[in-house]
Amino acid sequence: MEQTAVINKSIQGGCFCGRIAYQVQLPVKWCAHCHCQNCRHAQGAPVVTWYGVDKNNFQYIKGKRDIAWFDSSEHAKRGHCIHCGTPLFFLGDNWENEIHITLESTKEDILQKPQVHVFYDRHVNYLHLQDELEKYGGPDGFTPLTEAKNSGEEK
Ligand SMILES: [Zn+2]
Ligand SMILES: [Zn+2]
Repeated sequence: MEQTAVINKSIQGGCFCGRIAYQVQLPVKWCAHCHCQNCRHAQGAPVVTWYGVDKNNFQYIKGKRDIAWFDSSEHAKRGHCIHCGTPLFFLGDNWENEIHITLESTKEDILQKPQVHVFYDRHVNYLHLQDELEKYGGPDGFTPLTEAKNSGEEK
């Protein structure tokens, strides 16, 4: 037996109205808070927490036809429930083999705490987060901001 209990565990999530449900086989690949403008605007929230899973570890339980996909950029699309609007998924060309899922649509523990803030230099100025996680930003959103911290720039 080389697989651990964690790897064998599967969890479920879905949209607010319950028409869409999905299942994820753990472990997830990563979990991160995203501060990019697209996430904030598309979801009407100051920050969106995502996790990524291998597409092979994801499956729909029901409601696949109730998902509306829209292109949020040339290289990515987002999926939400056509009935209740819950933002659920993100698919991007840069992560061909992954599906990204909103943590808040998953009610079970994914056994992975958020690891990092990405696109942090775009963060809103009305919400203050004081955790120890690393903060990434820059043009690609994924460059460590530790050096920029000393620049004295306030927002
Ligand atoms: Zn729904
Ligand atoms: Zn984002």
